[in-house]
Amino acid sequence: MEDVEKNLRERLTKVAQCLWDDGLVSGTAGNISARIPGTNKCIIKPSGFTMCELKPEDFIIVDIYTLSVLEGKHKPSIETPFHTTMYRIRSDVGGVVHTHSHYATVFSIAGVELIPMGMVLYFAPKLAKGVGIAKYGDPGTEQLASNIGVALETKYAALMPHHGAIAVGKDVEEAYVNAKMVEELAKLQYEVMQIGKPQPLPEETLKSFIDSKHGKV
Ligand code: 13P
Ligand code: ZN
Repeated sequence: MEDVEKNLRERLTKVAQCLWDDGLVSGTAGNISARIPGTNKCIIKPSGFTMCELKPEDFIIVDIYTLSVLEGKHKPSIETPFHTTMYRIRSDVGGVVHTHSHYATVFSIAGVELIPMGMVLYFAPKLAKGVGIAKYGDPGTEQLASNIGVALETKYAALMPHHGAIAVGKDVEEAYVNAKMVEELAKLQYEVMQIGKPQPLPEETLKSFIDSKHGKV
């Protein structure tokens, strides 16, 4: 096995455990993947596995154009269509994380937009671009993949109605931080809404976050 692939498998396994430990997924919900740089391939979670049971060798290598399995003994995630769509349409994306995190799901069902506020954004500055809301699509469908592509545009996260959230990043670690901060943002906004109206950060601050002098970007 090549060093790059081995390294990605180990990193994906670590991110999976973080998602589990953070409670951003439960049961067999959620999926993660990473682009293999300089290729038309990505490494993705096998379908039906809990994030806490994954081992590096369980991940599957898939062609991002044909979606065919190139390597692996399990079935790839049913959400392979939206992971591969992101790699095809966004050359800046190196990692994709999909969660069923609670507050993000609440906002997705209510169709209420997340306001860019609080220092949550300091740790995930790209979220200052906003969080999209995708149109509903059934799990595992090309329709869901296409709805997510439209909602994300150049953004780094989107809510998936009745389902959860998707976050992308330059690598899988950045996608993970973005996914975690989407949930933090949703929880913060939910609580702010109990006592007042959520306010965005100043425009200039948001711009400086997008231009990214903060975080590991
Ligand atoms: P997989 O186990 O096939 O990745 O499905 C989990 C999921 O969250 C579907 O949306
Ligand atoms: Zn899901």
